[in-house]
Amino acid sequence: MATCVVTGGAGFLGSHLCETLLGRGHRVICVDNFETGSLANINHLRQPEFMFVHHDVTEPFFIEEPVEFVYHFASPASPIDYLRLPLQTLKVGSHGTHHALGLAKRHRARFLTASTSEVYGDPQVHPQPESYWGHVNPIGPRGVYDEAKRYAEALTMAYHRQQGVDTAIVRIFNTYGPRMRPFDGRAIPTFMRQALQDKPITVFGTGQQTRSFTFVDDLVDGIIRLAESGYHDPVNIGNPNEFTLLDLAEAVIEITGSRSEIVYEALPTDDPQVRRPDISLARELLGWEPTVQLRDGLRRTLDASGVSALTG
Ligand code: NAD
Repeated sequence: MATCVVTGGAGFLGSHLCETLLGRGHRVICVDNFETGSLANINHLRQPEFMFVHHDVTEPFFIEEPVEFVYHFASPASPIDYLRLPLQTLKVGSHGTHHALGLAKRHRARFLTASTSEVYGDPQVHPQPESYWGHVNPIGPRGVYDEAKRYAEALTMAYHRQQGVDTAIVRIFNTYGPRMRPFDGRAIPTFMRQALQDKPITVFGTGQQTRSFTFVDDLVDGIIRLAESGYHDPVNIGNPNEFTLLDLAEAVIEITGSRSEIVYEALPTDDPQVRRPDISLARELLGWEPTVQLRDGLRRTLDASGVSALTG
């Protein structure tokens, strides 16, 4: 049994990570300030091996017991959140990552930071391998998120190289599953909410831009494998099956049995045209690949959440 600190543990991914770590017999200390997460996400985790600390990780934090793993997940993640919270997003990626790395250093813990496929920006290489350095607009509205994550990666490697901290970086591709917020602006919860209410499904642009969608259980499994490996360079964790947004809208209509029509809206600034991970490294290094395909994952999201949670 290890003690694991999860920053951002009351969010969508963090709460699933806390749940899986507890299920595997670990002790979990969840640190969150509820900026975009909620108590509702972690209420069911109340048990002796789970501790919640209400704290803003842009301020230093200390844990008074031995810690073996620090999973750093605190950050606004959906465009709606980081466009609303640009300075907090930069600060949590910089100060927050410094403090989480400092905690790992003091405890000689293994540190894993949640990076993102957005470090590749609107990619000129497709699919994206870890060796691709990206094509990011630093001054566009999305730059606050993309550059915060790129800075967090640089900082993580500096703590590793200069301070000897045992670090890992996971580049997460679009992930979905139960506990996504119906109004968080991301495609899957938005389409599901609209479909379940038979309202028009709003696809940006022509809907021909592509994404790869990972079911949350697959992602969490890959993350824990990476944390338990000794690897330091970034690793893509995502589902290499690529869908257009139009394919996704059609799949959601099918799963929900909806009568919604599809309507088209303006493409947001710097919206990437393609997104698909090259997961050769995760396969080779971690023996990991996703097992849940899109329609199955959408059904599981619907069944586990229920209509009222998905429609808000
Ligand atoms: P989320 O918004 O549901 O969770 C983020 C959590 O961090 C929330 O609980 C929030 O309250 C907390 N938080 C934010 N600022 C904080 C601060 N200053 N101090 C303490 N807690 C703070 O988002 P998510 O989708 O669960 O994403 C979690 C992590 O994974 C983020 O770092 C995100 O960038 C990364 N990620 C997610 C995806 C995805 O598809 N969901 C893709 C790539 C990367």
